[in-house]
Amino acid sequence: MRLSKYFLPILREDPADAQIASHRLMLRAAMIQQSSAGIYAWLPLGLRVLRKIEQIVREEQDRAGAIELLMPTIQSADLWRESGRYDDYGKEMLRIVDRHDRDMLYGPTNEELITDIFRRTVRSYRDLPKLLYHIQWKFRDEIRPRFGVMRGREFLMKDTYSFDLDLEGARASYNTMYLAYLRTFARLGLVSIPVRADSGAIGGDLSHEFHILAETGESDIYYDAAIEDIDLAKLTAEGADFEGTVEQLQSLYAAEAEKHDPANCPVPADRLRHAKGIEVGHIFYFGKKYSEAMKARVSGPDGKDVTVEMGSYGIGVSRLVGAIIEASHDDAGIIWPESVAPFQVGVLNLNTKDEACRAACERLYEQLTNAGVEALYDDTDERAGAKFATADLIGLPWQIRVGPRSLKAGEVEVKNRRTGETENMTPEAALNRIRG
Ligand code: ATP
Ligand code: MG
Repeated sequence: MRLSKYFLPILREDPADAQIASHRLMLRAAMIQQSSAGIYAWLPLGLRVLRKIEQIVREEQDRAGAIELLMPTIQSADLWRESGRYDDYGKEMLRIVDRHDRDMLYGPTNEELITDIFRRTVRSYRDLPKLLYHIQWKFRDEIRPRFGVMRGREFLMKDTYSFDLDLEGARASYNTMYLAYLRTFARLGLVSIPVRADSGAIGGDLSHEFHILAETGESDIYYDAAIEDIDLAKLTAEGADFEGTVEQLQSLYAAEAEKHDPANCPVPADRLRHAKGIEVGHIFYFGKKYSEAMKARVSGPDGKDVTVEMGSYGIGVSRLVGAIIEASHDDAGIIWPESVAPFQVGVLNLNTKDEACRAACERLYEQLTNAGVEALYDDTDERAGAKFATADLIGLPWQIRVGPRSLKAGEVEVKNRRTGETENMTPEAALNRIRG
């Protein structure tokens, strides 16, 4: 992409109303623009990141055996009357009346809708287990939308729903998702802490919230430092014992502050960590809560009807954009993990009037593009200093800076955004460094 042809209306000054780094940086880097309270337009740079996160979430769901579908954003109130949640949900639900005076709503979540799809289509225990998911915009009329995309009113969520014949099956589905979540967050360059959460009236321990460590997190958590060192690749290598692995992971201690009992804490003091967390995912087994109310049944092995066991599994896809920035930035701007960077490299022409610079940049840009590397080519007439600032702000993992002086020596300067290290090398070597 040539910056001169792109749409990147960055802000040179800090916006006044942004209280946390990710919100400030997303506005400055022209990733989002607020359209009304808690509702944002995703500008091109932000959309690229959102799509990359979404794709990693999707790949890990697919790998875990979940099947993607797409449910509508607007739902009928009747389904929610069946489950009893239409009246319970309160003011967070955006209620809509259509021209025929039918009560509709903008979905804050999808348990009712997926249960309806399931009961209309699945008849036999032979079709179980089923894990179905979609990635769709939700609306919750949060009382205090804040911190940009972290607590929006409209936000993108991945939600999966499991259907099983019995508790044992439900537990297996739950554990499959548990591991898929750890993998997903690791691929996003994040350390995630699975914290035991209340699973409400159904009881048991089958509910975990996944938190990302960041000073600006809204949750206060205590956890075993061993969680930070989990080697998922090793634990899930071929031949590894799946149930054993999950059990081992789930036995590692993590709790929200209000549930942390120092007197009974099983973790030795030198391994106990206390930190702020951002909730980016929540998995939840709720048994027959919806299937009973909405009569979602299959015929069992003995021919008798069985009400199915269900669970739901959410990931805040748009919240993750902010959470990753909270976990990875410095004073100059964002530092993207390679896996979600909007572009892998910026090619900075430091003197657009210099013919040799122009030719070298064009050649590099073409070679990178041909090699399948996403490059943002700064071919604008800005000063070199402004180009450096922009590149640091938008946080691409690599910068190739092409200036007349080093080019005379046959070299360009390569900067690694994360380490801040710069190194001079030939354009060919730069290409190889970035491809490798
Ligand atoms: P919170 O306690 O933060 O309000 P929640 O318990 O309401 O979250 P869930 O209903 O479990 O959240 O939704 C699944 C995921 O969706 C959450 O883990 C979070 O990452 C994301 N999420 C929830 N509410 C919002 C929101 N208002 N803006 C952005 N993401 C959200
Ligand atoms: Mg909430």
